[in-house]
Amino acid sequence: MRQPEVNIGLIGHVDHGKTTLVEALSGVWTDKHSEELRRGISIRLGYADTVFRKCKDCDEPEAYTVKEECEACDSGTEALRAVSFVDAPGHETLMATMLSGSAIMDGAVLVIAANEPCPQPQTREHLMALDIIGVDNIVVVQNKIDLVSREESLENYEQIKDFVEGTVAEDAPIIPCSAQQRTNLDVVIQAIEENIPTPERDSDKSLRMPIARSFDVNKPGADPDEIKGGILGGSITQGEVSEGKEVEIKPGRKNESGGKTTWDPIKTDVTSIFSGGEYREEAGPGGLVGIGTLLDPAMTKSDKLVGQVLGQPGALPKVWDKFVIEFELLDRVVGTEEEVNVEGISTNEPLMLSIGTATTVGVVTSAREGEAEIKLKRPVCAEEGSRIGVSRRIGTRWRLIGVGKLKG
Ligand code: GDP
Ligand code: MG
Repeated sequence: MRQPEVNIGLIGHVDHGKTTLVEALSGVWTDKHSEELRRGISIRLGYADTVFRKCKDCDEPEAYTVKEECEACDSGTEALRAVSFVDAPGHETLMATMLSGSAIMDGAVLVIAANEPCPQPQTREHLMALDIIGVDNIVVVQNKIDLVSREESLENYEQIKDFVEGTVAEDAPIIPCSAQQRTNLDVVIQAIEENIPTPERDSDKSLRMPIARSFDVNKPGADPDEIKGGILGGSITQGEVSEGKEVEIKPGRKNESGGKTTWDPIKTDVTSIFSGGEYREEAGPGGLVGIGTLLDPAMTKSDKLVGQVLGQPGALPKVWDKFVIEFELLDRVVGTEEEVNVEGISTNEPLMLSIGTATTVGVVTSAREGEAEIKLKRPVCAEEGSRIGVSRRIGTRWRLIGVGKLKG
């Protein structure tokens, strides 16, 4: 497979069929962890690659497929684009993970189940998150149409239309389908092809990859000689990574000595690059990339390095342990069952900030109209001007309350 060129997020309320749709389009079931399988929900970000294809002989939309042979006429199909899916968890407690994933989405498919009233809380919350992060190429999939009558499906379609009005998905197509029964997938592919373009890339810039997953791939009790180094997963936003080259990771490793905490950048060599189902010597922006390193796998296991940024040594943005943000608050909290108004930000309150794939809690040290100074519990590596998702603890959960911009 060629290297995927675009990342498509799957977002929406829990159980509406995001993981099933990814499976229908890629053959990959992204819920792999034992806890995910046991509870039947996605907990971490899932990845899957596929190639969208088109039959030369058939009409649209039937011509769109992921199969190498056209199911309608048996002739061979042509590859259009290799794409990566980023499957976000839809459970309300996992918003931080969803926000982290949205940092690497070039566009998104909002999955809405036809057999429930629309919008469900995380349907609304995920869409708002995309708006805040700045992902605006969206396709809406009205899923599970096999479970409703034609009348119910039309009524639900109208609810969806009312819901998206005035949002970032206002002009998005709404495609009815059944991911489970594999109906209308051709129309879904066509809508993605037409509405989620491959972003333009600037190839002159230095390497940068926000880390979205990190792993230890060794089996317990593996022979020390066969231990593989830590693996980092993410999507390159600029530049290229090459096998054998040195890379830097920031903020890096926490170092507590002499009563002081510092963060030391990590340097390591790239030992392998995996993308689009193949090992490669190089990879650039687009799709999800797994990078093998010489790091101790204990450092990368269980997503420990998520939120850090990998890049060319010496060329990464600044690491911040406090900063000033300009913010704009929403009128109402999204994602809750009841309507709650958003109160102003006050001094000493803790906020959860989502910056790139990083999630960090900070305490407001001073707040004025539209601006706040925040001291972070964990530092982040980010460019001035970065967009920041701002969440506040309401009840027992962090809720999205606004959008910020890193001012300096
Ligand atoms: P997610 O939480 O959005 O990732 O949802 P899943 O993909 O895990 O699906 C939740 C449940 O809905 C599973 O039991 C699926 O088999 C089922 N499901 C998904 N899509 C469809 C569909 O189109 N029709 C029907 N009947 N069930 C579906
Ligand atoms: Mg899922």
